[in-house]
Amino acid sequence: MTRKLLMHVGPVTIDYDVLVAGLRGDVGFTSQEFIDVMSFSLKFLRKLVGADESYQPFIIPGSGTAAMEGVVSTLRRGDKVLVVSNGVFGDRWKALLNRYPVAVDVLKANPGDYVKPEEVEKAVEDEKYTMVTMTHVETSTGVREPVGEVAKRIRDKVELIVVDGVSSVGAEVVKMKDYQVDVYLTASQKALGIPPGAGLLVLSERAVSRLSDESVAGYFLNLKNWLDVMRNLEVGKGSYFATLPVHLVFMMAKAFELIEREGLENRIKRHERVAQGIRAGLESMGVDIVAKRPEAYSNTVTGVLLKKANPADVLKEVVTEGVELAPGVHPALAGKYFRIGHMGWVTPNDAIATLAVLERVLKRLGEPINLGEGVRAAQLSFS
Ligand code: PMP
Repeated sequence: MTRKLLMHVGPVTIDYDVLVAGLRGDVGFTSQEFIDVMSFSLKFLRKLVGADESYQPFIIPGSGTAAMEGVVSTLRRGDKVLVVSNGVFGDRWKALLNRYPVAVDVLKANPGDYVKPEEVEKAVEDEKYTMVTMTHVETSTGVREPVGEVAKRIRDKVELIVVDGVSSVGAEVVKMKDYQVDVYLTASQKALGIPPGAGLLVLSERAVSRLSDESVAGYFLNLKNWLDVMRNLEVGKGSYFATLPVHLVFMMAKAFELIEREGLENRIKRHERVAQGIRAGLESMGVDIVAKRPEAYSNTVTGVLLKKANPADVLKEVVTEGVELAPGVHPALAGKYFRIGHMGWVTPNDAIATLAVLERVLKRLGEPINLGEGVRAAQLSFS
């Protein structure tokens, strides 16, 4: 078996203790052990997004997209949604919402850039929207949206503010209550460092009050069907709507325990430090970063633009040297870039190993780089 460093955008390299926590036989969904880890995980989810007791957490089977689709449980026929899109995952809201009887407008940024808070403010002043969706970190480009600033400007003008925190929760500052956001959602396999299999959401009281039979949601992802299950499990009562990913929740609870031990603030700082080191390395190596403005750099994903080498060849080569990176997925930048995911349990050593492998591979593939300078800059950044 070759040891591999998964510097991907999720799933990411998983902590060994987290993996082992899922190795169990014979656990029923009504067992006390399962109820206990669900209760702990639901409570901890509130802390992860900066919410208090008045907010309702949900852990549902599926992934980030399932959590996104769960959001339609708060919409009614004819509601109007403004999608703030910085790339592929912003655009996903439009594709998803178009399956429902709601109206959708999209405010789009150029690839590598983000929609400015004042543009969102103007859009909600010009038109009445029920909901605004934002993507905290747009994984296709590694660009961060200033969601707190946007929320402040639009709070009084829309009913519901929704943030896709799939690439941010656990690695970026998230203050759901302070920002007065109504829905923050994420997935298990990203910055939380858990295997894939669960979508996570936290809803404000206002968002919960909109879960009704009038919503446009279907059945499985209708959060109204999951509400009592979450409430019961949190207070220690077995409950069922559809089967939860039992073993995954044991891993989740272990990950949350480790996050608690590290401290959420320390965890966010670690991500920031690793991201800074990676960017310093890439810049000194002589390659460009997809995110156009420093204030939009994220703690979790960095897109790397190439001048000569083919990104697909780079990915093929780095994996033979023990590092797996992510392909570029933004259609406007197709064939021009790849992505480094730096989230979860990532360390400065992982960053240095990644930069070292990248330097060797890019040199071999004829990309004009300063060999050794990337690693040196990262070393300096971490010193
Ligand atoms: N939103 C963002 C920002 C994402 O990065 C992703 C996944 N890469 C999704 C939504 C969709 O999540 P999933 O693939 O887990 O369905």
